[in-house]
Amino acid sequence: MKKFNEYNLSEDIKQSLEVLHYTDPTEVQQKVIPLALKKIDLIVKSRTGSGKTASFGIPICELIDWEENKVQALILTPTRELAEQVKEELISIGRFKRLNVISIYGKQPFEKQKLALKQKTHVVVGTPGRVLDHIEKGTFPLDKIKYTVIDEADEMLNRGFIDQVESIIQTLPKDRVTSVYSATYTDEIENLCHTYLKNPKKVVIEAKEHQINLISHSFIHCNEKEKVLLLKDITIVENPDSCIVFCNTQDKVDDVYKELRKSNYSCNKIHGGLIQKDRLSIMEDYKRGSFRYLVATDLAARGIDVENINLIINYDFPFKEENYVHRTGRTGRAGKYGKAISLITPKEKQSISSFENYIGINITFEDPPSKETVAKAHTLFKEKMKEVSKRKVMKADLVNKDIMKLYFNGGKKKKLRAVDFVGTITSIDGVTGEDIGIISIQETTTYVDILNGKGNYVLKEMRNMTIKGKQLKVHKAKE
Ligand code: AMP
Repeated sequence: MKKFNEYNLSEDIKQSLEVLHYTDPTEVQQKVIPLALKKIDLIVKSRTGSGKTASFGIPICELIDWEENKVQALILTPTRELAEQVKEELISIGRFKRLNVISIYGKQPFEKQKLALKQKTHVVVGTPGRVLDHIEKGTFPLDKIKYTVIDEADEMLNRGFIDQVESIIQTLPKDRVTSVYSATYTDEIENLCHTYLKNPKKVVIEAKEHQINLISHSFIHCNEKEKVLLLKDITIVENPDSCIVFCNTQDKVDDVYKELRKSNYSCNKIHGGLIQKDRLSIMEDYKRGSFRYLVATDLAARGIDVENINLIINYDFPFKEENYVHRTGRTGRAGKYGKAISLITPKEKQSISSFENYIGINITFEDPPSKETVAKAHTLFKEKMKEVSKRKVMKADLVNKDIMKLYFNGGKKKKLRAVDFVGTITSIDGVTGEDIGIISIQETTTYVDILNGKGNYVLKEMRNMTIKGKQLKVHKAKE
């Protein structure tokens, strides 16, 4: 097996992969990357957690022409959280190539997105509704799009987005490469691929025995009324570092979250009823390890990648088999063991066997933890509750650590262009074009990424310099 540094990739992409500690390609990456680099249309059946984002992210970042100002790649995802996650991964991979990757989805200011689409933007990751909205209003330049990815196509179908996806594809240039990713491969997906892909190659990655075996699956009988107590007993005994409690409805998430809060759990909640800003910051905090328990609807089940989740609790048993797979797939990732425990009411008991057939493993019956076991585990549980959780280092931090974003109080209105900033900044002793990252020029402000740990130096020097004869205020940009 070739390592990434032996791949035919440019140095700036290899540099990002090295910083991200991606040394060996995963199976899906080994199969997909060589084909994608040859610009072949692909249908990829692969589960989340297999490294599939980088399997399309690496070739896209490699193939993008930096000089081109218009959008060259469009990636569609079914949820906003996933769009954000995919965007982050592509930013990390394209960091040293200085690629500008943006996300666009609903409930965010349309005008701001419109401006971003007018800037030099290489890749757009978005949800179908808002992308279509921009296309219909003529605010999304499509003529340079060469690469398209439909991620989680089966979930696009489930959520009823497929018509929008088709409408988007129909507006794209014919001369493009398209790949469709799906965890399951149904007739509808086949139809979609048949209609819009050119001689596609199929890549199938089956979940390996050992990957499935990394998760132990069990269920415990209970009545609806007993669930809250049982949930608390399970968490005391299991005492996880990081856990997701899945419920079927937003109301239930609110109720369970309230109960856990009352008992001082380090917890938060996420569902589609929260405002987008909160959804994103809660996910970010959970990924960073700021709290231990996330109470969630299936919104957090798809594709969401958080390191080291050791326990998944199905407070409500999911309605669909595939949701079970996605929920429990949040644990047992990257070679680590995980546990999935489902609370099953008498009504739900009969669905267990069809779920077992679907995943191809046994969900074993477990007794609820006894009073003695709970009492014994209580001291350790209390201790962990008091512990301040360690802040997890995120992948983006690795590539961002030598980058500083500078703010300038002048932009398009003052007729400033990227070359003006590049010209002035590279006139500083010891600073070259290689040290300048993405430049984002807005009406009255500009943001410039300074790379290679030279941010403070450039900041100090720029305080005494003018850009195109204009003295601008400059400081470190707020996040
Ligand atoms: P995904 O299936 O895209 O959600 O990726 C699952 C996780 O694997 C993410 O945390 C990725 O950052 C990580 N990952 C992807 N490719 C590699 C690789 N070649 N080596 C190590 N980790 C990787």
